[in-house]
Amino acid sequence: MEQLITEAVGVLKRGGLVALPTETVYGLGADAENELAVRHIFAVKRRPASHPLIVHVASARHAKAWARELPVHFDALARAFWPGPLTLVVWRSDRASDAVTGGQDTVALRVPDHPLALELLEAFGGGVAAPSANRFGRVSPTTAEHVRAELGADVDLVLDGGPCAVGVESTIVDLTGAEPRILRPGGVSREDLVRVLGRPVRLGADGADVRAPGMLASHYAPRAGVLVVTPAQLYAEAERRQTEGLRVAALAPRSVAVPAAVHRADMPEDAAGFARELYGALRRLDAEGFDLVVTALPDEHGLGLAVKDRLLKAAAPRT
Ligand code: AMP
Ligand code: MG
Repeated sequence: MEQLITEAVGVLKRGGLVALPTETVYGLGADAENELAVRHIFAVKRRPASHPLIVHVASARHAKAWARELPVHFDALARAFWPGPLTLVVWRSDRASDAVTGGQDTVALRVPDHPLALELLEAFGGGVAAPSANRFGRVSPTTAEHVRAELGADVDLVLDGGPCAVGVESTIVDLTGAEPRILRPGGVSREDLVRVLGRPVRLGADGADVRAPGMLASHYAPRAGVLVVTPAQLYAEAERRQTEGLRVAALAPRSVAVPAAVHRADMPEDAAGFARELYGALRRLDAEGFDLVVTALPDEHGLGLAVKDRLLKAAAPRT
């Protein structure tokens, strides 16, 4: 393992790309201070250059070098949730180039909670810019196999850290406004943020200027169409589409009724389990050739909010 980390550090230092496991999803990482390497991430993902990347660092201490001032709430949130699935948006220091921030005056920072990622970041010392290791707009990878299948030779090295424990992306909190705001729900629940901050936390960007791909209409999309319904509607909707001639799969907890003729992709009843298995299930259903995934939303508690966000974006009209 030590040798792999040394090799990965070498790749980063040479300006190459390393796919790395985190507790949320696999990231496509490059030296955040090497503009050419960062641009390479955008090329491989086919991601528009205006969409900023998250800079991953080994600790809150490392994070501070990327911020020109530390917003109120930064320490409380970092102490409570790092390492962990929380990304903090702060005013950038000179270290954060336009390539990483999409030309914005802010930078997104995170300390991931995965032993391999932390070892790599510690050994590398600098920041690793890493979006999810998938083509732009598609389903994020939660295993090393997903990364190899999707990006193959476009990545110099894939570190295999097993399946991701959280399974959906980090919660992004913007600390540069008058009050903290959730730009993207994710692995840290809104309830936990409220508990630590001792105040309500709103969802959604403050102005129109914050560019986050996770905030576009269609994102996290499998090849199959996605139809989001309530648990009570699922049976009739799935049956109707199947009768119309589509190959339909029902993605729902076992407690939800599904017609016998429709393939069931059983999901855990709890939101955290649903989140953990969501992307793997969407990839599997794509591989099995289904035309349409009909799915029922879990309620919004805990990770349910992130699952709802991903499913609604996966279901949005594609461009
Ligand atoms: P992903 O590509 O799935 O890793 O998502 C990274 C997310 O972080 C995207 O939605 C980015 O746009 C968002 N992000 C990164 N930097 C910033 C920033 N400075 N302000 C707002 N969102 C950001
Ligand atoms: Mg992504």
